[in-house]
Amino acid sequence: MTNHLFDGLFSDVAPQATLAVLPQGGEWTYADALEYSARLANVLISYGLEPGDRVAVRVPKSIEAVLLYIACVRMGAVFLPLNTAYTGSEVSYFVSDSGASLLVCNPADRTSYSDLALDNNCRLETLGTSADTGLAVGSLIDATGQAEPSFENVDRRASDLAAILYTSGTTGRSKGAMLSHENLLSNSQALKELWQFSKSDVLLHALPIFHTHGLFVAVNVTLLSGGSMIFMSGFNLDAMIEQLPNSTSLMGVPTFYTRLLDDPRFTRQLVAHMRLFVSGSAPLLAETHIQFEETTGHRVLERYGMTETNMNTSNPYEGERRAGTVGFPLPGVVVRISDPDTGKQLVAAPNNAGTGVGMIEISGPNVFSGYWNMPEKTASEFRDDGYFITGDLGKIDADGYLHIVGRSKDLIISGGLNIYPKEIELVIDDQAGVLESAVVGVPHPDFGEAVVAVVVASGDELNSDILAEEIKPLLARFKQPKLIKIVDELPRNTMGKVQKNVLRTHLKDRFSA
Ligand code: AMP
Repeated sequence: MTNHLFDGLFSDVAPQATLAVLPQGGEWTYADALEYSARLANVLISYGLEPGDRVAVRVPKSIEAVLLYIACVRMGAVFLPLNTAYTGSEVSYFVSDSGASLLVCNPADRTSYSDLALDNNCRLETLGTSADTGLAVGSLIDATGQAEPSFENVDRRASDLAAILYTSGTTGRSKGAMLSHENLLSNSQALKELWQFSKSDVLLHALPIFHTHGLFVAVNVTLLSGGSMIFMSGFNLDAMIEQLPNSTSLMGVPTFYTRLLDDPRFTRQLVAHMRLFVSGSAPLLAETHIQFEETTGHRVLERYGMTETNMNTSNPYEGERRAGTVGFPLPGVVVRISDPDTGKQLVAAPNNAGTGVGMIEISGPNVFSGYWNMPEKTASEFRDDGYFITGDLGKIDADGYLHIVGRSKDLIISGGLNIYPKEIELVIDDQAGVLESAVVGVPHPDFGEAVVAVVVASGDELNSDILAEEIKPLLARFKQPKLIKIVDELPRNTMGKVQKNVLRTHLKDRFSA
């Protein structure tokens, strides 16, 4: 039997080598991981799951949750991780849209999710972490006790689906990006080579695992290289300072780096032995890049990717890591810049260098096959020749480095998480006393951007505090506005479109330190 992703990821691992060290105590070898994922795969089969079935997972970060992903790969299910900040109504949408056969949630959420599971004909099981012991608990963990420790992997080809990752929807509806075995494997192979990961690497893992960065980039690259991870349950500055001396590499969002730089314990000496610092998911300010080098002597390696495409470009490992750029296309990936309106490729000098600003378009084995159940949306985001229209605006400089200059789709990135204004506007507009709203991202010293809602009342009675309370249960915390401003009218251009740039300019210093 061949299982494309599993066979690739585990092709060169030593059973007794360490896969993960848990700062709270405990260690997992590759042999442990193989056995535990076999048990989990047997448990999933015992639930009646079949290849192609979706397994929705909204659980706190743990190694067992990573092994649940591996178990899905092994038995052919489609792993569907969900942000732990999502509310019940959001989870309900993902379960019903994906037609998930199994929802795995934190034991504490079992009661509140039982109706939504029942309504969607979806089995409900639990996986969490005990507050007392720090060990994994839940019905799924209990079931592994009786399960067989070996498993014959299900045949899976390169084009079979391995995962669905939901992005935020520009029209308010989230879209499930379908990622194949080959999308994931080819990308981790390219990154491993480029970033020179090896068995001697110890990656400090502090990213969430419901997102492509922490799950696919960090975990898959580690597995493929046979290295290990210090597996933290989340970002914690003290724990990170404590663990950096034991690590060789760190993958982070820009907020990690600004927070580390703000801490006097983060010194050149603390990280003198480190091999690599990678940043992505949001722009790393050139200023942060420079300050990081001044403090540590290391240059952060910035890369660019997205849920739909995995990673697209990276600054070089050897050679100049240029601040404010996201480097060159990964091997096998083609990046081109087009006119956003006509789709016509901008004329570039030899090597595709020196373009003007336009839409970034991508093709390669990393690019997803489409949005789950949304053939029209999928068709509208691909060019006829198969290039994916990223929605990011950028240019390629004379030396071939890609610069991202903006987001055509109004995306807000707060604390490394993507937020589409439209989704929040729809919720706000639904509330009593609201005529209309516009949501924008405003520079914020800690989060990169903060969500601000500018709201027009339909009558006299609208209170921003009450409105904030009303929308709280309807939106994940990271999407809730940090400021709600009530105004008489929204600025509009002659075509009647709301001028969000005017709002952004007006509010740009609102959170400055
Ligand atoms: P996600 O789908 O959550 O991974 O978000 C993808 C989006 O994050 C991209 O379309 C970009 O707009 C943005 N992004 C990712 N990496 C970078 C980066 N290094 N610099 C600027 N924006 C980035």
